Amino acid sequence: MSTKILIVEDNRQNMKVVEMTLRPHGYTLLEATNGEEALERAVRHKPELIIIDIQLPKLNGLEVTRTLRQMPAFSHIPIIAVTAHAMKGDKEKAIDAGCNVYLTKPINTRELPGVVAKMLSECKRDNA
Ligand code: MN
Repeated sequence: MSTKILIVEDNRQNMKVVEMTLRPHGYTLLEATNGEEALERAVRHKPELIIIDIQLPKLNGLEVTRTLRQMPAFSHIPIIAVTAHAMKGDKEKAIDAGCNVYLTKPINTRELPGVVAKMLSECKRDNA
């Protein structure tokens, strides 16, 4: 079973870009398009890494991340926050909520696979 990544994104086009960027690397990609669905999918499928948009319907990405961080199964997995409207203080808010990394849109498709691979290997090492 390949490494599972949950992508939480309400914008169809952005979802496609992230999927096309990561699919060649052999990950199993799961989708959620709002905050509630993100929590459901995470609990059901136990992804090893989550990429989450901050601006989401229902629960926003920060609320989802805070909720996940309170669950033992998700206390330490890598969570990558993504936002379109980078404003002063957003990065701090994302890190405070429990995100490990903060990326701004448009997603740098050349950079993303490396960020994901690095975080997965660091997480494995930390938990070995
Ligand atoms: Mn959004």
